[in-house]
This record gives sequence, C-alpha cells and structure tokens, in this order.
Amino acid sequence: MIISMKLHATKEEVATVRRRIEEFGYKVHSIEGEERVVIGVVGVGDVTACLESLEATPGVEKAVRISAPYKFVSREFRPNKTEITVRGVTFGGSEFVVMAGPCSVENERQILESAEIVARAGAKFLRGGAFKPRTSPYDFQGLAVEGLKLLDQARRATGLGIITEVMSDGDVNLVAEYADILQIGARNMQNFALLKTLGRCGRPVLLKRGMSSTIKELLMSAEYIVAHGNPQVMLCERGIRTFETATRNTCDLAAIAALDELTHLPVILDPSHATGKRSLVPALSRAAVAIGADGLLVEVHPAPEKALSDGAQSLDPKQFAAMMQDLSPYLKLWERSRMAEVAAAR
Ligand code: PEP
Ligand code: MN
Repeated sequence: MIISMKLHATKEEVATVRRRIEEFGYKVHSIEGEERVVIGVVGVGDVTACLESLEATPGVEKAVRISAPYKFVSREFRPNKTEITVRGVTFGGSEFVVMAGPCSVENERQILESAEIVARAGAKFLRGGAFKPRTSPYDFQGLAVEGLKLLDQARRATGLGIITEVMSDGDVNLVAEYADILQIGARNMQNFALLKTLGRCGRPVLLKRGMSSTIKELLMSAEYIVAHGNPQVMLCERGIRTFETATRNTCDLAAIAALDELTHLPVILDPSHATGKRSLVPALSRAAVAIGADGLLVEVHPAPEKALSDGAQSLDPKQFAAMMQDLSPYLKLWERSRMAEVAAAR
C-alpha cells in the first residue's frame, strides 16, 4: 500500500497513520517527502479494512493498494525521478551521463589509456570488468583484485568515477571498496542472494536487464535491492534475446520509454551489448538521447582488434570522440526537454 498524506499534514497526523498501519499488522517501510509525505507500507493483512480506515484518518489524502508487484521502485510510490549523485555527477537529473571504457580490465597500460581516452571525450565514469561473466570457461575471466587496483589507479590518474561488475554476493564488499558504482550483469539479474547483499553495500547499483527478462522482472529485481535497504539503483537496457540474428541482441528501445512511465529510477542504455557491432553504437546512442534515457554505458578500447573480450562491439578512440561530438546537438534538445519535465513536476 501507499499512503499519500495531504499537503502539509502535521507530524501528529503522520504518527497516527503510522500507528494505525501497525495496528493492522503492517510495517512502515519508508516515509518520503517533506511537504507532501508518502508512506510505503509492506506486509500481509486485511488490505480493504486497512485502506478504509486510513482513508478516514485525518491528514490522509489517498490510500492505495499497489497493483504492480513492485512498490518502492514504482512511479506511483515516487512521482519524481530519483537522482543519484556519485562523485559530484548526478544521474536522473539535468545531466546525461556517459560511462565508457573497455569490456575487461586487461593490464595497466590498457586501462590507463582507456581512462584518458574516455575522459578526454567527455565521459564521467570509466567502465571495465575485473570479474568477467564469460560463456566459455576457457575465455579470459578477468584480473579480479588486480583489476580493481588498476581501476583505482585510473581513477586517481583521471578523476573519473569507476563502474565495475560484481558477480557474487561474496565479492560485494571487496568490489564496493574500489568501485563507485556496482554493475550487476545481465546473467545475474535474478541472483537473489546477490541482490539482497546489494541492499547493504552502501554504493549505487547499475542493474542490467537479463537477456530473457521482462520489464516487470527487471523492476522486481530492482525492488529486491531497494527493499533490502539501498534506494540507489539504476536500470540498464542492454538488449534481449529474440529470433533476430543480425545483431548480437535486440535493443529494446521501447523499454526505456516504458520504464520511464513505470519507475522513478534512472535508466541507462548499453548500446554495445545491445547490438554487438561497433558500427551500430553511435546510432543507438543518439536514439537513447532522443528517447529520454539518463545516460549511456559504452565499450571503448584503445585497440579493439587486440581486446581480450568484446572487441567487435568496442569503439576505438577516434570513433568514441566522434560519437561524443555528434551527440552534442541531441544533448542540447535532451537538456531542454529534461528542464521542461523538471519544471512540470514542480
Ligand atoms: C559487460 O558489461 O561487459 C557485460 C558482461 O554485460 P552484460 O552483463 O550486459 O552481458
Ligand atoms: Mn562486454
């Protein structure tokens, strides 16, 4: 249930509502907002009786049962977008944020060069996997802790924030020591032990959509992280499996617009995994800007032909710089429409 209090409801009225919720055997999960308080309620009980009682309680504007199985990530719960600020950069606000870098951290020179290349072109975060989920056990599995240390070195050299993948709940604390944002890969979107641990990791999380997952399942996975205590979640569309074989995955652009209606969480597009082809990445990136995504996660490698993973979809330094330049007129339109949205929300 979600209880919206009247504008300027008093503290006493909020306290009475809270008591009544508890009398019905429910739990208050969170209380949001200052001028207009919205209370999120979880638990099992007599919903109809509880709703009727709350609607009749002074200070309550509306008490609604949430039809969607996810609550805290829904737009109903929080009509305004969630803003997540990391190292002074805000996702979900008035900035379109680009995160870029190689698929994997391979060695010191490669990651430092990558960091300089993407920083120079305007990216704010360096991506790079230290723990790699590979289909074949014989493929490069990542440098693990050594890779995390190299990412830290690149952060100190360039000032970029770091986003890197964590694959298991046992590694969350370790990766959180080094990363500014924890990436959850498509293959782990429904690793529930991992999702629960992320609730307590103290870092923002970028949750990638599973390659065979629905939008609802993606939101349910995000709900796990938020319900376990971490509201700083971003979602990432990275392409899904369909009958189409011309691209590595099918980029579900409509998911970005649909998510914008269903959730207040920031939404990022990964055009690299979504297509598997570097030639398609700039077009998809423009589309992400046009459709109102909050940012991009792009694979860039100093020498893609030598990459240990995902070289075919990685942009080279020149291609990335050109793409960033070509995005700029679209970004001006993006900023205008985002300002208008923010003004309308106020
Ligand atoms: C990656 O970002 O390199 C990656 C493995 O992505 P995904 O989980 O989307 O396949
Ligand atoms: Mn990759």
